[in-house]
Amino acid sequence: MQQSLIAFGLSREHLVSIAPDLWAEGETASAFQVLRRRAAEQGFDLRIASAFRDYDRQVRIINDKWTGDRPVADGEDRLLDRARYDDDQWLNLILRFSALPGTSRHHWGTDLDIWDASAVDEDYRLQLEPSEYGPSGPFSKMTRWLNELMAADDAEGFFKPYAEDRGGIAPEAWHISYRPAALKYQDAVSAELLIPLWRGEADACGNVHEPLAMLELIEPQVDYLMERFVAVQ
Ligand SMILES: [Zn+2]
Repeated sequence: MQQSLIAFGLSREHLVSIAPDLWAEGETASAFQVLRRRAAEQGFDLRIASAFRDYDRQVRIINDKWTGDRPVADGEDRLLDRARYDDDQWLNLILRFSALPGTSRHHWGTDLDIWDASAVDEDYRLQLEPSEYGPSGPFSKMTRWLNELMAADDAEGFFKPYAEDRGGIAPEAWHISYRPAALKYQDAVSAELLIPLWRGEADACGNVHEPLAMLELIEPQVDYLMERFVAVQ
């Protein structure tokens, strides 16, 4: 039970502080400090933009994108116009960049979005966009260094679960995952357990959560959506 509470972002008991206001699973935090030291030896200043995110926050993100209270952008950071898409298209656009609540790898505390503070000015506004990590972006050197370590299985247990575009979730060069801990949670993610939560029913601790705004659209195609947008590897 504890495993699925953690997997769905409903528990914080396994977390430690990894940076101001950021929390991560304990082993992940330790492994990241080692990776950070090795990065520093190369002149990089690895920083974390996002670590643990809980279930309720993910519901708010998804619901706000659905209603248009939060902008929805494409892969090049162009804002998309809700009026130009039908409900199904809009849902698919949202899910390319935002996970269904309970299915985000950020719930586990094992996944981090990272950047290199040594490559930009102090007032740089991080976008987490492919171009920043591409060949002409500021983080290209750090990205190349890290990718080489990962290819040699020498990155302290970290890998990139969204390195390639498989047609579902967009590629995220900034997103790294601590595999030894992440493996514990990925099998706990199931639509059967999530649908009651999405309906607003109480979780295993008796807490209720805001229902998903577009649940009627999701329920009939939940197997397809899980297959397409929930990356398990
Ligand atoms: Zn991420």
